[in-house]
Amino acid sequence: MLPRAEMNVDAVVERVRPIIDDVRDRGVEAVLEYGERFDRVRSESVRVPTAALREALEATDPQVRAALETSIERARAVHADQRRTDTTTQVVPGGTVTERWVPVARVGLYAPGGLAVYPSSVVMNVVPAQAAGVEGLVVCSPPQQEFGGRPHPLILAAAALLGVDEVWAVGGAQAVALLAYGGTDTDGAALEPVDMVTGPGNVYVTAAKRVLRGRIGIDSEAGTTEIAILADHTADSGHVAADLISQAEHDPAAASVLVTTSPELADAVDAELVTQVGTTKHDERIRTALSGPQSGTILVADLDDGVRVVDAYAAEHLEIQTEGAREVAARVRNAGAVFVGPHSPVSLGDYCAGSNHVLPTGGCARHSSGLSVQTFLRGIHVVDYSEDALRAVADQVVALAEAEDLPAHGQAVAARFGTRKDLSR
Ligand code: NAD
Repeated sequence: MLPRAEMNVDAVVERVRPIIDDVRDRGVEAVLEYGERFDRVRSESVRVPTAALREALEATDPQVRAALETSIERARAVHADQRRTDTTTQVVPGGTVTERWVPVARVGLYAPGGLAVYPSSVVMNVVPAQAAGVEGLVVCSPPQQEFGGRPHPLILAAAALLGVDEVWAVGGAQAVALLAYGGTDTDGAALEPVDMVTGPGNVYVTAAKRVLRGRIGIDSEAGTTEIAILADHTADSGHVAADLISQAEHDPAAASVLVTTSPELADAVDAELVTQVGTTKHDERIRTALSGPQSGTILVADLDDGVRVVDAYAAEHLEIQTEGAREVAARVRNAGAVFVGPHSPVSLGDYCAGSNHVLPTGGCARHSSGLSVQTFLRGIHVVDYSEDALRAVADQVVALAEAEDLPAHGQAVAARFGTRKDLSR
């Protein structure tokens, strides 16, 4: 019964297709023209000089730099543990199957830069890619009028801290197209096409990812952010309200949902929302998000029902603020990330928990995970059988091939043992 904010990507697909074709055909020249049109700035070149990354880092407020370093360090610790090791299974004597985990060779990471800038998203995309062993990393972010057509300095500083030196000032659908097709800058610098594009973005970025999917791999189609909080009478209404507000701050279409066993808590949270929203900077956006049909409070009879509701909703972010929160959290099946107890707010996960903040939205947590090292790896099966091992199973291969009316499959095995039949009619 809970409505969700829908992003109508299909409606935008036809609008981004000409942009994508144009960038494919005219490369950087087209990119510069779209920058002028949508970002209201035309720079001389699209590739950001490496020296500019260093300069941006040097000019970064020391406190922000230290916070970015903490964010990177913690994310690296968590993502290092996600690395996969190859497995070799001895199926029969002389017959093995190895699963080799191989990183994608070259990845383009999109860092949004329209309404707000997200250096934290640079961290959340680059860290798992690097931990997976991706060798070619390129970051794209929209050119900013205020900064002479370069991306926001904090995006550049984050790239510098992470050791990424290839950054291009391009946003929207044209960024995804340039990454997919490659291009040559006005000064001759080449952007080699990538194999995969990851990172959040607005509806134009998402539509371009949908159009180019297949030519390139993508992570997921990032939708509008969501928080669900499962809380009982033990929760602090002030903290619950602050957490609902924190995600509403992202977007007027953001969803903030409280699921509670306590009518008293629900009333107290409502009262807190009224007071707290008035003191926030982006109060208009927050008010719109909180009063939209996608946000609200659901009263449940008990925590069992509460878990059923949050499972059905499959929130991007789920907080558990109940008695025995760890035990309740362990029963949750569907969520992008779960935040347990009173001291694990979503904002911690947005920046400094070590977890990834690029998470499935719109109910996709029922079947998908957030960004991780796994996103950037492919498991390649390596099949290695000896003659004896093949001979031992040859009859079974032939039997299954013939049952599927694909006898040439069986013949390919039979040919190795001189038992090939003439199947011509
Ligand atoms: P953005 O960088 O995604 O988009 C800006 C670009 O959109 C511009 O460079 C321009 O080229 C293009 N554009 C603007 N108007 C256009 C038009 N009329 N036609 C074609 N192209 C046009 O930045 P944004 O707009 O601020 O959106 C960022 C989104 O990413 C937000 O919705 C935010 O909530 C989301 N986000 C999600 C996460 C996450 O982890 N899920 C993290 C950060 C941001």
